[in-house]
Amino acid sequence: RFISIEGLEGVGKSTQAKHLNDWIANKGHTIVRTREPGGTPIAEAVRDLVLEHHSEKMMPSTELLLVFASRAQHTEALIRPNLNDGHWVLSDRYTDATYAYQGGGRGLDLDLISNLERIVLNGFKPDLTLWLDCDAEIGLARAKQRGALDRIEQEEIGFFNRCRAAYQQRFNADPSRFIRLDANQTEAQVKKDLINALEGWYEQ
Ligand code: C5P
Repeated sequence: RFISIEGLEGVGKSTQAKHLNDWIANKGHTIVRTREPGGTPIAEAVRDLVLEHHSEKMMPSTELLLVFASRAQHTEALIRPNLNDGHWVLSDRYTDATYAYQGGGRGLDLDLISNLERIVLNGFKPDLTLWLDCDAEIGLARAKQRGALDRIEQEEIGFFNRCRAAYQQRFNADPSRFIRLDANQTEAQVKKDLINALEGWYEQ
């Protein structure tokens, strides 16, 4: 199975990813953990390019093509081979993040994104996407506490509100692929909700 985790900055993705990882391992599956942008040496090099501060403005279309270039490498070199070998793959972010950040955040045409998705991934998508949904201001405040912000994390609040709305749109379009968790709650409560939802999903 291929599972992705999505959400804005500071929603507690890494923490819940650990719980998800343990839950999968307890079910007796081997699991490969990875992230986007990144996951392989080439894909990570592209990640650096996307997130670093540059002396010129990165154009939204450049950013879009780079995240898909990174994803092409990640998917073909790491995700698919591991799924074919019978492992579960857990990715911190995947294509929904592009609809959120490059679509909602940067305002790129969603049809353009879905055309690229079709060309690059040919229908390949996660079996399950965990969406940690949190108020943008709460998440961003947590991310700021954590320290140095990357190029994208320095955007204004409106950017993240648009990202969140785009995640909501992704969820509405295909709710059965998603588990949505209220990440405004305490970490312990989110974990409880996560395990409950996972058990329900697994029994299906
Ligand atoms: O998940 P993580 O916080 O490590 O993501 C790193 C950065 O990449 C974040 O600032 C996130 O908003 C950004 N990102 C992006 N477009 C994507 C995926 C991630 O701008 N498609």
